[in-house]
Amino acid sequence: MIRGTSEARDRVPPVGRRTSPPPEALRGEIASVLIGPSRLRRRIAQMGARITADYSDKEVVVIALLNGTLVFLADLIRTMDFPFRIETLRVSSYSGGTPDSSPRIREDLPRRIRGRHVLVVDDILDTGRTLAAVTRRLRQARPASLRICVLLDKTIPRSVDIRPDYVGFRVPDVFVVGYGLDFAERHRNLPFVAELRADTH
Ligand code: 5GP
Ligand code: MG
Repeated sequence: MIRGTSEARDRVPPVGRRTSPPPEALRGEIASVLIGPSRLRRRIAQMGARITADYSDKEVVVIALLNGTLVFLADLIRTMDFPFRIETLRVSSYSGGTPDSSPRIREDLPRRIRGRHVLVVDDILDTGRTLAAVTRRLRQARPASLRICVLLDKTIPRSVDIRPDYVGFRVPDVFVVGYGLDFAERHRNLPFVAELRADTH
């Protein structure tokens, strides 16, 4: 069995709305920088250390939900000090649809995760529908365990019962971009997490 979730031992840092103003050139689109590069780096190192402590003697499959998770995944895995396999799933944003809809997953994935310890990595937990649908589908393949790791957890009331095991930061209920997260495919390349200006979307 896998040990109790790290979340219980962890205090997830809350992020305020007006952390710092964006660089001059981005002021038309970005309201503020919520989480800067060094804060991201420090927190992700803590997450990686916890994940390493929990998983180091297990056969692990990391399943990343693309595309928003790309940058986080790249940094997170470099803080994970144990062998693991990476699989990717593409679930378009908000395609969780109704809570009972089942996203399609690659045919060979169930075979690859059966009996393995699965760590699902996503960028941001919003309504929770996407992760609820994905994890329901993955559990049908009977992994040895399944846990959820998200960089950001939006503080919103949720009707879907989703409790991530590893959370980077709790963010306010605003539209965030940067560090992999996009608005109409823009801003993924920003090295920080920022709040998009409300009049932009
Ligand atoms: P959920 O199913 O939890 O409502 O939606 C999760 C997905 O919606 C995330 O994985 C992400 O792709 C997208 N999403 C939710 N909130 C935001 C946001 O504030 N900014 C961006 N860029 N994407 C978001
Ligand atoms: Mg996503």
